[in-house]
Amino acid sequence: MYDVAIVGAGPAGATLARLLSGRCRVLLLHHQRNKCCGGILAPESQKMLAKFDLALPHEVLVDPQPFAVAVWDLQSQLVRHYARQYVNINRKLFDHWLVSLIPANVDIRTDAIYRHSQHINKESLEIFFTENQEIRSERVRFLVGADGAFSRVRREFFANYQNPKRYIALQEWFELPTVWSKNSTKNGIDFRNDYVGIFDSDITDFYAWTIPKNEQIILGSAIPYGNRTREIFEQLKTKLKNLGVHFDEPFYRETGSLLRPLNPFSVCLGSDRVFLIGEAAGLISPSSAEGISSALTSAYYLAQTFGSNGFNLSAYHKNIGLLRWQLWLKTIKIPIMFYPWLRKQIMLSGLTALDHSL
Ligand SMILES: Cc1cc2nc3c(=O)[nH]c(=O)nc-3n(C[C@H](O)[C@H](O)[C@H](O)COP(=O)(O)OP(=O)(O)OC[C@H]3O[C@@H](n4cnc5c(N)ncnc54)[C@H](O)[C@@H]3O)c2cc1C
Repeated sequence: MYDVAIVGAGPAGATLARLLSGRCRVLLLHHQRNKCCGGILAPESQKMLAKFDLALPHEVLVDPQPFAVAVWDLQSQLVRHYARQYVNINRKLFDHWLVSLIPANVDIRTDAIYRHSQHINKESLEIFFTENQEIRSERVRFLVGADGAFSRVRREFFANYQNPKRYIALQEWFELPTVWSKNSTKNGIDFRNDYVGIFDSDITDFYAWTIPKNEQIILGSAIPYGNRTREIFEQLKTKLKNLGVHFDEPFYRETGSLLRPLNPFSVCLGSDRVFLIGEAAGLISPSSAEGISSALTSAYYLAQTFGSNGFNLSAYHKNIGLLRWQLWLKTIKIPIMFYPWLRKQIMLSGLTALDHSL
């Protein structure tokens, strides 16, 4: 029997597995998939890596390293740059690196997909998963859902919980020289160097972005869940084109789910035997969709509560308290960022409210 089964080896699951190794028997179900992500490490993520005494390997970094975010309001046509110390990474290599740090005593099952669980008694559950197309099961004392925005564990055990607002994120990848040759510098934005946050309430009540990655560039947007997301994304491209910014044929397209916890009660940390960390718990910034830091932090806080009786739910709630309220506080800035008139006034004023929100 395993003490802990972790579903998902993204930043949250891989970190928890590493922190628990040597303290108990850990099973990690690792369904490898490329995560649709901007690959920007905010200062909070950098602080967590430093806390773990981890330095990013060179190959995880990509150029350029943005030191400012350019906020572009399509409706008012204003552009402003705000200083912010971000680290630009290759998300796929970042996830591989975190998994590579997990000691060998953790039982990692690659390409294993969690299906469901069954309570055996008060002390344990039996989990079912597919591995190499075959159904397998294992007996475990605790189950941790680190399976991201569309968490199966959350849906199975906490279906009655209030869910954060759901978005579909679309990203298209372009060859940077092609985009650059058509656009060069527009409205003071340099698409080769700037991390750009694009705001337009006719497209989305969240935002869109461009991020250069070595010789490539991503155009992405988070759009409220629905069946017109692709069409809305195309509207964004048309709007950009009409403004003279051409993102024509991508060489790669990807989509993913994204959560936006607009109130603190949509964060769900778990119950006596089943716990949630990272985005599965609803821990992600509602103003910027920055979630890697919360994934690392929640894994750390949950690991801290592990003792001879296993995890401690009330200690986990207590540990996560500050993070939960920090995330909720970001919702207060949402009207400033996402309502056109207020955003325009803030951008005209030169105040830095947008800087701290992104
Ligand atoms: C388009 C987009 C851009 C983003 N950009 C940024 C950014 O620039 N910076 C930032 O900090 N955050 C960003 N985020 C948010 C960030 O990606 C997430 O918050 C973060 O990855 C959460 O980490 P996690 O470990 O909780 O979940 P995930 O990274 O989603 O990892 C979950 C893992 O669980 C696996 N899994 C899922 N279901 C199962 C199953 N049934 N069985 C086994 N395994 C399973 C998945 O394959 C995945 O490997 C972005 C999100 C999106 C959608």
